[in-house]
Amino acid sequence: MPQEIKQFLERIEKLVNLKKCEDPNYIRVQINENLRKEIYKEQKGKCWLCNCKTKVPTTHHIQPEGESKKENLVMLCPLCHQFVHWILKKYLNYRGTAGRLPFSK
Ligand SMILES: [Zn+2]
Ligand SMILES: [Zn+2]
Repeated sequence: MPQEIKQFLERIEKLVNLKKCEDPNYIRVQINENLRKEIYKEQKGKCWLCNCKTKVPTTHHIQPEGESKKENLVMLCPLCHQFVHWILKKYLNYRGTAGRLPFSK
């Protein structure tokens, strides 16, 4: 299997293989704009999953109910973002949608 596909599958697994947040009242802090830009730069403008140079970067929480800090965030293209949330909703009962779309670079 090509390395690119292997990495894609490993990363998808990381995003959907999660332990649910125990606190139902937990309210997430908004993602700071500078943090979005920092992540965008670090990923060189490429989607974390499909590697495309997306014109519409979005930010995804690795643990959907987790905190808005750097360790819990990745930049995805809108397609991959929708796809991940579709899996989370369909198979893992997460309610959240694919966040704010998109942010300015
Ligand atoms: Zn993508
Ligand atoms: Zn998301």
